[in-house]
Amino acid sequence: MSHDLTWDITPLYPSTSSPELADSFEQGTQQVAQFRERYREKVAGLTAAGFLQALREYESLQELLIKPQLYSHLLFAANSESDENKRLSQKSDEFGNLMGRELIFFDLEIIQLDADKFNALAHDPQLAPYRHFLEAVRKFRPHTLSEREESLLSQKALTGVQAFSRLFDEVSASLRYRMDMDGEERDCTGEELLALLHHPDAAVRERAFSTFLNKHKENEILFSAVFNNVALDHSQEMELRSYGHPMEPTNLGNEIPTEVVESLMQVSEANYPLAQEYFRLKAKLLGMERLKNCDVYAPLSDSGKTYSFEEARALTVKAYGGFSEEFARLADGFFTERRVDVLPRPGKSGGAFCMGMTPSLPPYLLLNFTGNLRDVSTIAHEVGHGIHYHLAQVQTMLNYHPPLPLAETASVFGEMLLTRHLLEKETDRELKKSLLCAKIEDIIATTFRQNVLTRFEERMHLERQDGLLTSSHLCDLWWEENGKLYGDAVEMIEPYRFGWSYISHFIHARFYCYSYTCAELLVLSLYQLYLKERESFIPVYRGILADGGSKTPADTLAPAGIDMSDPAFWQNGYDLLKDLIEELKALM
Ligand SMILES: [Zn+2]
Repeated sequence: MSHDLTWDITPLYPSTSSPELADSFEQGTQQVAQFRERYREKVAGLTAAGFLQALREYESLQELLIKPQLYSHLLFAANSESDENKRLSQKSDEFGNLMGRELIFFDLEIIQLDADKFNALAHDPQLAPYRHFLEAVRKFRPHTLSEREESLLSQKALTGVQAFSRLFDEVSASLRYRMDMDGEERDCTGEELLALLHHPDAAVRERAFSTFLNKHKENEILFSAVFNNVALDHSQEMELRSYGHPMEPTNLGNEIPTEVVESLMQVSEANYPLAQEYFRLKAKLLGMERLKNCDVYAPLSDSGKTYSFEEARALTVKAYGGFSEEFARLADGFFTERRVDVLPRPGKSGGAFCMGMTPSLPPYLLLNFTGNLRDVSTIAHEVGHGIHYHLAQVQTMLNYHPPLPLAETASVFGEMLLTRHLLEKETDRELKKSLLCAKIEDIIATTFRQNVLTRFEERMHLERQDGLLTSSHLCDLWWEENGKLYGDAVEMIEPYRFGWSYISHFIHARFYCYSYTCAELLVLSLYQLYLKERESFIPVYRGILADGGSKTPADTLAPAGIDMSDPAFWQNGYDLLKDLIEELKALM
């Protein structure tokens, strides 16, 4: 049956040499040119009906342009060693970039509309389905430059901040490590070393993490130069675009007020003692005096239960089935319709993802299933994203993708369903403890740890405004923020001072990390609502997912009675974590 474990992407295009694919590139180029001719410098003169027509054309253009790009991304992810896939992937990236630049005028002209004209359009009943899109674009008005300036900035970024970020990637990927394993020196990759944090032997865990971090220390000149330039670039951009705080552009894009993010972070900090309580319990479970920070993810026992893919698939579908029949059916669809690529193989991309496509194309999943519990969780996670994208297919293209703070909702909720399902059917006390620890550690990693990362990143940007950050200054900031989380419950190993230097989010996705905290706490709250309301919660939750990106996060969550601006809402999430820790204590 192993042939069924790869995906079938022929519903997109029959093959890489098919005329349909060539036609998409050609049609896309032609239609973008026509769109430019019809609307460039004319948006301000459109009536509401004319504007509606333009938005619909813009939307179908987006669908047309994205399809060959999605197809080549999937091909490349499944086999990046094929020259044909490489060529097609490069071609579609360049195509997407060029088309994007050709269309940038449309957003800019919406931003530049005078206030009366904009308000009349945004409140015209015909344009109601696009009101959120228009308002989201318009929020950047005080921070947008002219078309010429925008285009120059984006062009020069290629040799500026983007060049530093590429250098960071290339150097990070090129680092080679040697580590003593079972008495012999071995070559390893960074991924392998980090995976050893789950090794049962404490000495191996510490040696692996130290080897990894010390290699970064050897390259401190390069890493601190990259971090400095990324921070300087951002501080210059803040000045050019009149932003007041380093997080403001991210928060604006996420449609979350800066005060709400600050309250999320403060509530997280107030709950650090909860994490410390868990670290002390974990030390007890491992029979240790005190944990080092390389012991946090240590397995409880050596047993390491494994699952076949068929078992994992059945568990996932069952877990979703306990919530709703519809969710189980959507989950199963990935497997029956072959929209999932399951097994690892050379040349295939690592990790796992769900690719949301368009309102007319169903999503696809990529996994690297090896049979451990974390892999089963990953299936539940990615299937959750998939269900979210499925339900959002009732939206049109501009309203399809969920906003960042909600993007991890269905995935994390799905993991929770799986954990509960496994806990319910498990009778072995030791395995139950392992399951609970895995879940608690996962929550700690997506809430508290992400909060530490965000605080470090915030201070790095703020303090860069006063001048160059030396490597030891970056190490101090990192040490202080981590120290607040670990307190005296966990000893940080000395090489961890360089822990900042490998976090690629700081380089690639500024202030992305708090989205994880936000999503995890949101899901913990939603899950509590589900436990309380059961059946009546299901349509509310379904509605949240089906909203896709058609509303602000606040408006999408309102029907569930969720108010992100209330600190009690975030506390609610941590209260569920506390319950999980109590559940673990009861088993000890
Ligand atoms: Zn995810």
